Amino acid sequence: MSYQSDLYQQVILDHNKNPKNFREVEGETHSCDGYNPLCGDKIKIHMRVDDRGLIEDVGFSGSGCAISKASASMMTVNVKGKTLGEARTLFEEFHKMVVGELDAKGGGHHLGRLAIFEGVREYPSRIKCATLAWHTLVCAIDKTGETTIE
Ligand code: ZN
Repeated sequence: MSYQSDLYQQVILDHNKNPKNFREVEGETHSCDGYNPLCGDKIKIHMRVDDRGLIEDVGFSGSGCAISKASASMMTVNVKGKTLGEARTLFEEFHKMVVGELDAKGGGHHLGRLAIFEGVREYPSRIKCATLAWHTLVCAIDKTGETTIE
């Protein structure tokens, strides 16, 4: 199909094969277990946040489909070094993009390479796979322990 969807497939495959930050973190301060019953994806987010609310380290563990793992991998890369507030903003932008409320080409957002996931709109049943790691990140930020996305 389009260049955009070829790139989307390639990024998913690369991150699935070589996920970034697929590990627990030392001195973990925040974590949450996320579950997507629609697909069976289980992703746990691990974070170490400093006194100023800066995400010093973030990783993920668990198992899931290629999209859920690739999304978790890219999420960790993009929120590491950010504040909890900035991470929450990224979650909101990412979520709006995959459900079609934000046009990644339009600018005025902070998504960068995450814009590749705009392609998931074409596969509505996979949107929850793409957003699971993000919902779980917000759960970890809120320290609520576990989340199941409906
Ligand atoms: Zn999935």
